[in-house]
Amino acid sequence: MSISTLLEVLPIINAAGPVTRLSGSLMSDEVVAAMAEAAQACYDIAELQAAAGSLISDITGAESGYVTSGASAGLLLGVAACVTGLDPGAMNRLPDASGLRNQVIMPRSHRNFYDHAIRSVGIELIEVGISDRYSGAGVRDTEAWEIEAAITEQTAAVAYVANANAQPPLPEVTAAAHKQAIPVIVDAAGQLPPSSNLKRFIAEGADLVCFSGGKVIGGPQGTGIIAGRRELISSVALQHLDQDVHFDLWSPPEDLIDKRRLPGAPQHGIGRPCKVGKEQIAGLVTALKQFVDADESARREGWLSTVNEIADGLRQINDAEVRVSDGGAIPSVQIRIASVDGMTLMKRLNAHMPSVHANASRVHEDTIVLNPVCLRDGDVGLLVQAFKDVSHPE
Ligand SMILES: *Cc1c(COP(=O)(O)O)cnc(C)c1O
Repeated sequence: MSISTLLEVLPIINAAGPVTRLSGSLMSDEVVAAMAEAAQACYDIAELQAAAGSLISDITGAESGYVTSGASAGLLLGVAACVTGLDPGAMNRLPDASGLRNQVIMPRSHRNFYDHAIRSVGIELIEVGISDRYSGAGVRDTEAWEIEAAITEQTAAVAYVANANAQPPLPEVTAAAHKQAIPVIVDAAGQLPPSSNLKRFIAEGADLVCFSGGKVIGGPQGTGIIAGRRELISSVALQHLDQDVHFDLWSPPEDLIDKRRLPGAPQHGIGRPCKVGKEQIAGLVTALKQFVDADESARREGWLSTVNEIADGLRQINDAEVRVSDGGAIPSVQIRIASVDGMTLMKRLNAHMPSVHANASRVHEDTIVLNPVCLRDGDVGLLVQAFKDVSHPE
C-alpha cells in the first residue's frame, strides 16, 4: 500500500535541502535495506547502541558515541549528562535541577530556538556578551574571557552553536571552559559537509558534539549522533535507554555503561521521550559509513552538475536572472525573476502541482535559492517546468 493511496499525501519537489520541515534527506537503497533488516528482528538495544557508539567513536575521534533521535535530542541528552554526571539520584530528579549544577552558559549570538532542548533539562541559560557586529554598532562579539568570567559553582556546561561565522572560535572557548573543568557541548547539527567536520569539533576540544542524521548524512530523518567523553556518553545512555529492568538482571555493555560504578540503576530518564528504534540505529550507522566512505569531491561534482542543469533550464525563462554559486559547502542556484516578487513566486511554487519548495532565506531580496541535495532523478525537469509555469502564468 503506498502512502499516496493510504494518506493521499503526494511527494513534493524539495529544492530547499534536507530541512526537517520538508522531511529531511533521501536515503540510499543500502540504508533502506539496513532498516528493513533491523525491523524484522529483535535486539538488545543497549548492545546495538554500544556497537553503533564504537563506530561513531572511530569516525569522530571521540572516546564514545551514541545514536540519538536528532541533533536536538542530542543537546537535551548531552546537557542532562553535564548536569547529573553518573549520579542516578540526580538523573531521577530532572528536570528539577535545583541543588545541582544548573546553569548553562551560551554566547548571546548563539541563541536560537533549538535551545528549547537545552532549557528543557531544567537549567537556566546564562547569555554572555553582546554581539554588536550584528547590529552594525560595533565590530565585536562575545569573547572567550567573558565566558570564563561567567563560570561559577552553578555552571554545568558551556553550549556552542557551530557555524562558519561563529564567534568566539571554538578552541578559545574550550580552553577557557577547561581551565575550570567545565564541559563544552557543540551543536553541529548542519555542519556537514565537509566530512572532516565529524572530527573537527572534538579535535578543537569539544566534550560533546551533536550532528543531525537526517540532513546531509542521509540517515533516517529522526536520527542524530552525539559523540564525546566516555563518562558523559555513559550518562546520556543511562538517561535515554528504557530502564524497565531488575538491577540484578541488568547487564549493560561495559564499554557503554560500567554498572560497577553505579550505586543503583536510574529509572526511565529525562531522555526517554527521545526514543531511538532499532531501525533508526541500523539506518543511521549505514548512512554514516556511506557518508564517510564516499569521495567528497565526487559528491560535490554530482551536486554541481545538478545545479548547472537547473541553471541552464531556468535561463530559458524571460527576465530570469540566474546565478550558480559554488563557493559554499553545497553549491546552489539563485534565481530572481524581474516581473514577479520573491514572496509571490514562492507562494506560486508551493501551490504548483507538483508542489515545489525552495530556500526562502533571501526572499526579501526577491531571490530564491535552490539546493540540489534532496532532488530525485527526474526532479530537475519538473522543477524547471514549475518555474516556467509560475513565472509567466496564463
Ligand atoms: C537542524 C538543526 C538542529 C536540529 O537538528 P535535528 O537533527 O533535526 O534535531 C539543531 N541545531 C541546528 C543549528 C540545526 O541546523
